[in-house]
Amino acid sequence: MLSCKDLLEELGNYLDDEVSVDLRRELEEHLAECRPCKVVADSARQTVKIVTGCRSFELPSKFSAKIMAKIRAAGPGRAGSGEEES
Ligand SMILES: [Zn+2]
Repeated sequence: MLSCKDLLEELGNYLDDEVSVDLRRELEEHLAECRPCKVVADSARQTVKIVTGCRSFELPSKFSAKIMAKIRAAGPGRAGSGEEES
């Protein structure tokens, strides 16, 4: 079973369909059982859909990393952490 951290690290690849069949299955199993990650994945998917819907070109990897950083900041573990955007 993947940890949430593993999932978040692979999420961009997963959404880009760049993971192996095995990894994909592991990610989906995790998403099926981990609500916080599912919420993150769903919002990431929406974001990707919106972005790719506006411009039909491949996202540079740096862009994905930016999205991932945002998602990570807003994702699981947010409760309790006092620091938000400045
Ligand atoms: Zn999780």
